[in-house]
Amino acid sequence: MVQIAELTKDRSFRNRLILACISVALFVSVTYVVVSYRLTSELGVKTELNAMNLQARIIHNELANSGKSLDERAMELARILFAENQDLAVFVRVTGHDASWEYANKIPSSSVPELLNAISQQPQDSQGQVTTATGDFLWHDYQGQQYRVQLIQSNTALERTMSMVAKRLSIVSLIVFWIAIWLALTLSSFIAKRVQQKNDALAKIATHDTLTGLPNRLFLLDLLKRELGEAADKPRPDTARQETEGCLFVIDLDKFKVVNDSFGHTAGDTLLVEVGRRLKSLLADSQVLVRMGGDEFIVWASGMQIDTAKALAEKMVEICNAPVMINHLAVQTGASIGIAHYPTHAGSGEMLIVSADTAMYKAKQQHSGAVIFDEPDSEKYKASLRLRTELAQALEREEFRLYYQPKVALATGEITGVEALSRWHHPEEGILPPGAFIALIEDSGRIQEFGRYVIRHSIRQLAEWQKSGIHVPIAINLSPYNLLDPGLIDFISEQLDANGVEAQQLEIELTENETSQNINSIQQRLESLKQLGVLLAIDDFGTGMSSLAYIAELDVDIIKIDRTFIFDMHDNHKHQAIVATALTLSKSFRSKVVAEGIENREQAAMLVEMGCDYGQGYLYAKPVPSEQMTDMLRENPCLQLA
Ligand code: C2E
Ligand code: MG
Ligand code: MG
Repeated sequence: MVQIAELTKDRSFRNRLILACISVALFVSVTYVVVSYRLTSELGVKTELNAMNLQARIIHNELANSGKSLDERAMELARILFAENQDLAVFVRVTGHDASWEYANKIPSSSVPELLNAISQQPQDSQGQVTTATGDFLWHDYQGQQYRVQLIQSNTALERTMSMVAKRLSIVSLIVFWIAIWLALTLSSFIAKRVQQKNDALAKIATHDTLTGLPNRLFLLDLLKRELGEAADKPRPDTARQETEGCLFVIDLDKFKVVNDSFGHTAGDTLLVEVGRRLKSLLADSQVLVRMGGDEFIVWASGMQIDTAKALAEKMVEICNAPVMINHLAVQTGASIGIAHYPTHAGSGEMLIVSADTAMYKAKQQHSGAVIFDEPDSEKYKASLRLRTELAQALEREEFRLYYQPKVALATGEITGVEALSRWHHPEEGILPPGAFIALIEDSGRIQEFGRYVIRHSIRQLAEWQKSGIHVPIAINLSPYNLLDPGLIDFISEQLDANGVEAQQLEIELTENETSQNINSIQQRLESLKQLGVLLAIDDFGTGMSSLAYIAELDVDIIKIDRTFIFDMHDNHKHQAIVATALTLSKSFRSKVVAEGIENREQAAMLVEMGCDYGQGYLYAKPVPSEQMTDMLRENPCLQLA
């Protein structure tokens, strides 16, 4: 993982830049000194050799034109030419047809043969430079008409060069060096500033979400690592880390994918930004809100205890449940929140997220808003994750089957219709009830596909029964998000036509709770369904917060009273009142009432007494596979004594 610290602070960069500039300056200065020095010393040697050539010629001409003896004149010349520089090591040899003469200063006669020998081994030339054990020498060999003049002298060009240029060179190189350092400092501070700005921008991009501007996963992991340390992934921490505590909330929007698919991605984005803004408004400055990606947010509240966390989570759920206006539509998703406490539920940041995620998953399945992590939930969470990955295949392999539960006329026990309830025939897990997979399907964005699957199979079943002379309507359960499917009405109409089934044979049950909150966005679809002739039922009536106006507006055909009110109606007066209200309502709206979850005769008798005509429950029959339902419809259409 990229370390944020690496991105934000690259202090060594400036030092490296300065070092590089100084190295370049040093290199330039050294090159300058070396080149200048070599050039100057080569020039010095050349000048010296020219001077020696001139001296040799003078010696030759003077000797040739002089009337004096060779020794005498040569000695005179040597004095004139070399007297000024007594320190100079010189050797002169003049040889002619009649005589020869030698002069040596500061060159021991013992080293002369060695010198002459070294010169003779040099390439055939009249002058040059030779180095022996005695030192470095320049030589010139002049062959005149009468005499051969050989001149050898120590090479003083180097010393002279040094004395002449060394001072100037060092001054210039010092100036170059200082200019380079100044340039390096100015440049490096400029570049370092630019790099820092770029690094800051990069760090912001890497650690923040571009849509909401909130910090992201990388930021959170880094923060948790800093606050909680690099702890081992064990549930109980060591004493050293016990002072730190805090709560982590994983907030996942419900059915966000459906909203995204139905209203478009721009609407989805608007929703996310708004939810982010609302959540932030609930938090203190020290609490951190992070967008983990998709429709998942995380809050890290350092120092928070579980009790306080629960209260905060409830506020979060409430604020997320409020609809968001998008394109004049009130879009509502809601949120499921999982809470995990450090150090009670995890020993490291990453495990804390996993724990809170597990709790969130439970909240999602139970539709319970906020849930605190509980160790045994982990296994269930893992199992659900596995199921989620198997959904697509299950749809393809048609592993979902419709079971049917009869609805009866309470007075006679006659079957007046059936409700189709989905079951997943899982190859390993066995038969799974809707509670184990509907939320998964809704959350995975496949609910519209699943809705069409249920519609197709139930209409096919209606056609089959019709062929064998059975005419009972089938009620199917649809999620309100199915109604956001733009092709739903056409699809139902095509399926009915293709199978030769009347629209009145199909009933659609919509759960009260969710429908009432999304009424604005689905109203038009519901009207189209009604026009098609399909019957509408409000399911689980009493559990939602529906207003009467909304029921009237929907013009529903059937109201199904939730079984929680039937279950204890004999000794719960409030529940009795709700049943009575539903019955009164149904009369004025001219809709039928079906009581759900009738399990005993006492309940059935009481409902009949209160004027409820229809019911459904284990007293009559449990949901059964299609074949069994077919037999039941054929052989036992009156279920009163079941
Ligand atoms: P629901 O539509 O209210 O269905 C009635 C639920 O109550 C069924 O549970 C049924 O088995 C159960 N039930 C019926 N009579 C009794 C009784 O006497 N006592 C008790 N304790 N329970 C009884 P099931 O099949 O588990 O379905 C649960 C919920 O899942 C359904 O509630 C419905 O909202 C949803 N569901 C089922 N199938 C589908 C589907 O294909 N699509 C969608 N979107 N939701 C579905
Ligand atoms: Mg139902
Ligand atoms: Mg129900």
